[in-house]
Amino acid sequence: MSKTTGSLGGLAVKVSPRGASRLKDGHAWVYRSDVVSADGVPPGSLVSVVDHRGQILGSALYSSSSQIAIRLISREPVADFPALLRQRVADAIVYRESMVRHANAYRVIFSEADFLPGLIVDRYNDILSLQVLTQAMDAEIVRQTLISELIERLRLASVVERVDPRVRQLEDLPPRTSGLVQGEKTSTIFTMNGVQFHFDALEGQKTGAFLDQRENYAAAAQYAHGEALDVFCYQGGFALHLAPGCSRVTGIDSSRPALEVADQNAALNHARLNHNDKEIEWIEANAFDLLKDYASSGQRYDTIVLDPPAFAKTKRDLDAALRGYKELNLRALKMLRPGGVLVTCSCSHHVGPSDFLEMLADAARDAHRTLRLVEVRGQAKDHPILLNLPETAYLKCVIAIVSQ
Ligand code: SAH
Repeated sequence: MSKTTGSLGGLAVKVSPRGASRLKDGHAWVYRSDVVSADGVPPGSLVSVVDHRGQILGSALYSSSSQIAIRLISREPVADFPALLRQRVADAIVYRESMVRHANAYRVIFSEADFLPGLIVDRYNDILSLQVLTQAMDAEIVRQTLISELIERLRLASVVERVDPRVRQLEDLPPRTSGLVQGEKTSTIFTMNGVQFHFDALEGQKTGAFLDQRENYAAAAQYAHGEALDVFCYQGGFALHLAPGCSRVTGIDSSRPALEVADQNAALNHARLNHNDKEIEWIEANAFDLLKDYASSGQRYDTIVLDPPAFAKTKRDLDAALRGYKELNLRALKMLRPGGVLVTCSCSHHVGPSDFLEMLADAARDAHRTLRLVEVRGQAKDHPILLNLPETAYLKCVIAIVSQ
């Protein structure tokens, strides 16, 4: 196993003309197949990227094992790396201050989109959750610089690191366990759009909640009415937002632990939800099977949310993923009453917005329903999208009304 040194400069990686033109086109990555030489470059180093003529293209973080060998961090030479890291953290925080409303939970740093490739930091009220995805970000000096800057600027109770063992394996990094890196607090309650949620930094999936849906929760709540079904509800993000405007809400998920938290979240929002004795029903089931049963037994709804896990993990999965989305959307469309609202999502980057809309149009045609598009949405603004780095865009959320 190689050792991460996080060396701070003086090193160069030469890239092929194809790699160079990718960077010149505005992208931030060079794949290993486009690295011509990285002689003597330790894993996780800050390097200068040069083309075959020796022209410097910028400064980057190098990985010795990932397919993404180069992640650009600046188009300029970097004289003081820790100072650059601190500035990037400061800029990311300022951006959130201007963009995030009505929430004390949001993504503080979104990797490449905040020019800190390989680092994800989420805030849940008074706890920061940190994920390190690359050799460079795992280097001790880099970690210490980032963490101390985050603590100094945000002054939260604690910082927790969440580790994905597969990521560390792919990056050829020594194993590490999830846990506290600062402070003592590991659980809290956070709020978004006036809805409260439990957060436990060391349990749950992903970083604890799907913060990228925050603005879509509020948008969906504007149209939701009548009897609502939240399919793939996880800890109840959509269901809890829709409940005040609906007569009945049912959440479906295959994960019992997620539904247990969903139920605790419902209790937490008791005052908001139960003014007319409204209870949310949580059902543990395979959504595909349950929707099939419901559709064939003639169950009808006024609002249906579909927010499945990513079906397309790679480009090769695209066709199969689109078939999966179509099957789900077709079933949901058949179950919606006239005037019903469909909120349908995809978090696969490889399924582009036009693929997704085309799939939905096909599903509507096959279901003999006419759909009126009311909103085509994406990820919340605290998960910025860089136009020249399409991989930063992944979430689609379409809200449509069944007009007949
Ligand atoms: N809507 C949620 C996020 C959904 S993430 C929110 O806003 O917080 C996807 C969810 O799908 C996960 O909770 C996972 O447990 C669930 N899931 C995955 N496969 C499933 C299946 N076949 N049937 C039901 N739920 C499934």
